[in-house]
Amino acid sequence: MLFGILVAVVASASWGVAHKQGVERLRSLVHDRLTVNLHAVESEIERFRYLPDVISKDPRIIELLVATDGAGIGIANGYLQSVRSMSGADELYVIDLSGETLAASNWNEEGSFVGHNYGFRPYFTDAISTGSGRFYAVGVTTGRPGYFLSSRVVYEDRTIGVVVAKVDIGPLARTWAEAGEVTAIADREGIIFLSGEPRWTYRPLHKLSAETLNLLDAERRYDGIDLARAEPLAPSPGDGSADRTIGLGNERYLMGVRGLEPDGWLLLSALPLGPVETEARLVGASSALLALLTLAVGLFLRQRQQLTRMKLEQNAVLEGRVAERTAALAHEVEERKRAEQDLRTMQDSLIHAAKLAALGRMSAAIVHEVSQPLSALDNTLAAAGLHAERDAKAEVQRNLTSARSLLKRMQRTVKHLRTFSSRRDATPPEPIDANQAIEAAMDIVEPRARENGVAIAYERRAGLPPVTGNSIRLEQVLINLLLNAVDASVAAGQNRIVVVAEVLDAALRITVSDMGQGITPEVQQRLFEPFFTTKTTGEGLGLGLSISKTIIEEFGGKLNLVPLDAGGTQAWVELPLHVEKQRQLVSA
Ligand code: ADP
Repeated sequence: MLFGILVAVVASASWGVAHKQGVERLRSLVHDRLTVNLHAVESEIERFRYLPDVISKDPRIIELLVATDGAGIGIANGYLQSVRSMSGADELYVIDLSGETLAASNWNEEGSFVGHNYGFRPYFTDAISTGSGRFYAVGVTTGRPGYFLSSRVVYEDRTIGVVVAKVDIGPLARTWAEAGEVTAIADREGIIFLSGEPRWTYRPLHKLSAETLNLLDAERRYDGIDLARAEPLAPSPGDGSADRTIGLGNERYLMGVRGLEPDGWLLLSALPLGPVETEARLVGASSALLALLTLAVGLFLRQRQQLTRMKLEQNAVLEGRVAERTAALAHEVEERKRAEQDLRTMQDSLIHAAKLAALGRMSAAIVHEVSQPLSALDNTLAAAGLHAERDAKAEVQRNLTSARSLLKRMQRTVKHLRTFSSRRDATPPEPIDANQAIEAAMDIVEPRARENGVAIAYERRAGLPPVTGNSIRLEQVLINLLLNAVDASVAAGQNRIVVVAEVLDAALRITVSDMGQGITPEVQQRLFEPFFTTKTTGEGLGLGLSISKTIIEEFGGKLNLVPLDAGGTQAWVELPLHVEKQRQLVSA
């Protein structure tokens, strides 16, 4: 919109300037023409100016006017005729005081002036009253226009007649017409009487008043021409000497006007405005095009600059973001590494602590287990001593057998203690007998279970295939599951735990089921979280299941706890069966 207005302003401004300059150029051309034509017209007329005056002094003319009998007419006629042919004037004639023509250069030609009365013509009356006259008119006798120059004839201080020279200025108009010039002469009243442009001839410059028309009629200036109906050239009268624009046919012209004295005539010259207007339109259109082009180029450059700036800004922003993000990521990675390190350290120390705790719990169980046989052994040995004193050999023998069985039981307990203290990393996966692992775990847990009135039932199944893992660590896991089952049973006042081992495809599954308080969905979700415990007594560290799961997964197995429909919980461990051949292949 704004661009449109801008282009329109530029176009109209340059059109205006071009038009004004063009019109100025045209105006100066018109005025040059006027100057040239003015001289041409003046010299055309002025060269005859002297003629009537010279003729009026000739004795032949004076004689003609003085004599009343018509003598001297022939001589005068001959004289006028010869002067006409010498001077180039159109006609020459002599009029007496009554206005009647006595002699004329065309006395013997058709349309001769001789005998005609021109007393009504201003050139006659002016000559009588002022001595000379000049007048342009269409010839009343010939019908041809001409310029009439007159001089009075004075004899012995007495006016006796008038000599008139008619000059044909028609050739001027023909010259203009041939040159294609629109040039014309208008009389004092503004009627064009001579023109190179035939459409102008006998047209008034503006509408004529009734008064003027009457005057023209009286003078018979344009005899036989209907001026009242002629269309005016310019509708309004205007300033007589000002330049004006006029229409001629379909074209518009710039017309210059110059006064032509002494007759008060107007010399008119016009040149067509068409070329100027075309040129101005061309300049306007070119300027509009140029403005449009400049604007388009400007707009394009600005947009490109903006685009480049935007891209640079975007790049800078992106680079900034990438840098920020990279820094943040680096920081995050660093943090994560540190956190992982911390976690690992913590886990290691927790595992260690858990191990210690498990060891403590186990030691307590073992101490409990050992102290009872120890005191029994003490009693048995004391009894053996008493029987030895009485020399009752059979009794001593029985006591010793009983003491040995007590010692064996203690040896078994101590053996567990030793296996638990062995290092986990030093034990690569090995085939394990699940029955042995279950029974070893039960051996450790049973004393505590018994103490709490809980029985652990396990139906030993012969010929179970060996599984892959580490027996001590599997025992550790099973102890954990059994201890949890005991705790749950105690909490729910139950007294039975069932352990089952069965083969499923390529795995062995051991289940520990209790009728304890069971596990809620919330608890089940968090079972394997380190330090998650529901035990409030302080004996639960919440590490048992998480460590157990890690151990079983290390063996390539699975561990999970599920609630039982009838209430209680079932913990299950699945371990891959040990495949000797495969192992050998892998190790080869
Ligand atoms: P802790 O025994 O020290 O609490 P665990 O990791 O062994 O740690 O067990 C975590 C929690 O899992 C226990 O506190 C208990 O709430 C729940 N849980 C484990 N076994 C059983 C089970 N047999 N019956 C019900 N809840 C159990």
